[in-house]
Amino acid sequence: MNIRLPRPVEEALRRLEERGYPSYAVGGCVRDQVLGMTPHDYDICTAALPARMEEVFRGERVIETGVQHGTLTVLLEGMAIEITTFRLDGDYLDGRHPATVQFTDQVEQDLSRRDFTINAMAYSPLRGMQDPFGGQEDCRAGVIRCVGEPEKRFHEDALRILRALRFSARLGFPIEARTAQAAWDGRDMLARISRERIAAELTGLLIGEKAGDTLAAFPEVLCAAAPLRALTESPDWPLTTRRIDCAPREPLVRWAALLADLGGDRARTVLKGLKMPTKTIDAVGALADFSGQALSSAPVQEWLMRLGPRGLDRFIDLQAAAQAARQPERREQILDRARQIRTEADRLVRENACCTLGQLAVNGRDMADAGFRGKQIGEALNALLLQVVRGRLPNHRDALMAAAEKMLKESMG
Ligand code: ATP
Ligand code: MG
Repeated sequence: MNIRLPRPVEEALRRLEERGYPSYAVGGCVRDQVLGMTPHDYDICTAALPARMEEVFRGERVIETGVQHGTLTVLLEGMAIEITTFRLDGDYLDGRHPATVQFTDQVEQDLSRRDFTINAMAYSPLRGMQDPFGGQEDCRAGVIRCVGEPEKRFHEDALRILRALRFSARLGFPIEARTAQAAWDGRDMLARISRERIAAELTGLLIGEKAGDTLAAFPEVLCAAAPLRALTESPDWPLTTRRIDCAPREPLVRWAALLADLGGDRARTVLKGLKMPTKTIDAVGALADFSGQALSSAPVQEWLMRLGPRGLDRFIDLQAAAQAARQPERREQILDRARQIRTEADRLVRENACCTLGQLAVNGRDMADAGFRGKQIGEALNALLLQVVRGRLPNHRDALMAAAEKMLKESMG
C-alpha cells in the first residue's frame, strides 16, 4: 500500500522520530488514502508525551488543543496537524467520556481504542502500515466493523452508533452484521449523548452520498437520536429517504429533505431540541413551511419575497429532489425546469426586482401620511408588496399611494 503524505506531515513525523519517538499518520487520513480518496486533514499519533512534543516543536506555532488528552496542534508550513500521544482509554463510566486517559508507547494499543477497523490504521514512511484489525481488508470489502466487540464498544461510547451510520452513509459501505445488530440493540444509549454531538453526527450522516439508504436501514436508530417517529412510521418514509439522496449534499437542504413532511413548526422544534444554531433552524424551518407547495403555484418574484435568494436556491433544490424521488424517470426534465427557475430568479435579483419592503417605492411614513395607524402600517406595506411581486401593481410611488388610499377607504367600509 503506497500512502503519500504531504510534506509538513512527513516533516513532523521525521522530527518526532529523530528524537526517538515512534510516530504515525493515523485515522481518517490513512483510511481515505487506502480508499483512493483525498483526506481533508491529517492526524498524527506518537509515543511522545505532550511535554516532549512541545520540545520537539519548540519555535513552531503550537496550539494546546487538549493537553490532558494528549493532543497538540502544530502549524507547519501553514498546515495544521493534530498530534496525539498514543493512549488507552480508561473505563467509560457514563457511556460518553473515558474516566481516565492512559498514555502508552504502543501504537497497537492506541489503535485498539479506535472505533472502526477502517479508522484504526496507522502509517509511517519509516515503519510502514500498522493494521492490526484488518482495516485494509474491510476497506477493500467495503464494510463498517467495530474494533473489538461491538456491544462493548457502543456501551463505552454510544456516539459510535451514529458514527457507524455516518461512515456507512458517507462511504456507501454496509455495516457488518454484528456491528449493525449492536447498533440497533444499543440505540437507547444515545439518550446519554449531548444533543450537540448528536446533531453534528446527524448532519455528517445526512450529507453522505447514501444518507437516505442508511436511514432507511436504521429508522429505529434515527428515532433514538431525535424524535422523528412521525416520519419513520409514515407510509411516505421510503419516499422521504429517496428525497434525501436526490437532494444536493448540502446540510440545510438535506435537513429540509428529512424534515419537510413535518411542516415548518415541527421541523423547528426538532432542530431546537438538537440545539442547532438559530440560523439553521430558521433556514430549514422556512423551507419546510412551504414544502407542500409547488414552485409553479406562485411567481418566482413571490418566492424570492418569501425565502430570499439563498433560501429560494435551496427550495428549488428541495422541490426538485422531492419530484425526482417520486418520478426518477423524469429526473432530467425536473433538473432542467429547476435550472430555468434559478435563471429567472438570478435575473430578478440582478435587475433589483422588488422583493422586500425595503425595495418598495413607499415606506411607513407614506402610509402614516395616507392615514394608516399602528400595526395597519405594516399590514398595508405588506399588502402592497404582495401586489407588486404578483405583478398586479407597478413599484411606483403614485400607483402605490393610490392603491393604499383605496385600501384605507375599503377598510373603513
Ligand atoms: P472525518 O473525515 O469525518 O474527519 P475521521 O476518521 O478523521 O473522519 P474524526 O471524527 O475526525 O473522524 O476522528 C478521528 C479518528 O479518531 C477516527 O478515525 C477514529 O480513529 C478516532 N475516533 C474518533 N471518534 C472516536 C470515538 N468516538 N471512538 C473511538 N475512536 C474515535
Ligand atoms: Mg477527522
